[in-house]
Amino acid sequence: CFYLCAIIPIIIYFGCYIFKGKFRIIIGLLLVFNFGCYSVLYKMFRDAIPIYTIDDKIRVFVFILASFTMVFSTAFYNWIYIYSSEKRENKLRKENKKLSKDAHTDTLTRLLNRRGFLPIVDKFIKDNPSGIFQIAFIDIDNFKRVNDSYGHDAGDEVLKHVTIEIKKGIKGADICRWGGEELVIFIKNMDYETAKKRMERIRKMVEINPTVFYNKPIKVTITIGLAEYNNTYKDAAEIIKVADNRMYYGKHHGKNIVIAK
Ligand code: GH3
Ligand code: MG
Ligand code: MG
Repeated sequence: CFYLCAIIPIIIYFGCYIFKGKFRIIIGLLLVFNFGCYSVLYKMFRDAIPIYTIDDKIRVFVFILASFTMVFSTAFYNWIYIYSSEKRENKLRKENKKLSKDAHTDTLTRLLNRRGFLPIVDKFIKDNPSGIFQIAFIDIDNFKRVNDSYGHDAGDEVLKHVTIEIKKGIKGADICRWGGEELVIFIKNMDYETAKKRMERIRKMVEINPTVFYNKPIKVTITIGLAEYNNTYKDAAEIIKVADNRMYYGKHHGKNIVIAK
């Protein structure tokens, strides 16, 4: 009878593993069958006269062994169940994290996309209402011409190359691929003059370092609009718009330029 109790967790554990959905009813049937066997055996042998009388010490030993088997089996299968569900939970958590990262990342440049970027800036504004930071809006000049002359793949390579140049020029900043060939930088821990100089340097680096595509250098330039946050802006979108307008102004004043006011 003890052994019949001991197999209850085994029936449940392997049953759940083998049978899914409506087939789980089989687990219930097996448990009912197990209970039926237990009742029959109990009824048959409750008042049975033993054929051999065994020594008291051996009886105690058999009793302890059977009890131990029952407790061990229950504990063991519970442990397996907890262990495997924890493992599954960890796996799901990792997958969720990856999915969330993917949803906030641009596949070509591996930069943040708008969904990933805007909450970072908005959170900063909320946590530091009188904090100072700058937004740089960058647009690659005549990018359509690159695609038309060298092909779309070359255009993609230029985008990746410009991203690398920006990252080299401003380490650790949050950078967003705002759209097509437009990138936005969230500049912290810098005064306006330094940010301006830094943007000028990035502009220069892009100008003098062409993208090499199949051994062919492809030269591009960028136009940058820079704006500094103060608490008259209500959110990230508003200051990004100002930087965008300055970039646009640069497009109408010769391109390949940094406009900071
Ligand atoms: P401007 O100097 O005024 O910015 O001119 P532009 O040619 O850069 O701007 P326009 O808006 O006319 O063209 C942008 C081009 O960028 C058009 C589109 O095909 C291209 N583009 C957008 N996203 C991608 C991309 O992911 N890869 C490639 N290769 N091209 C892209
Ligand atoms: Mg554009
Ligand atoms: Mg452009």
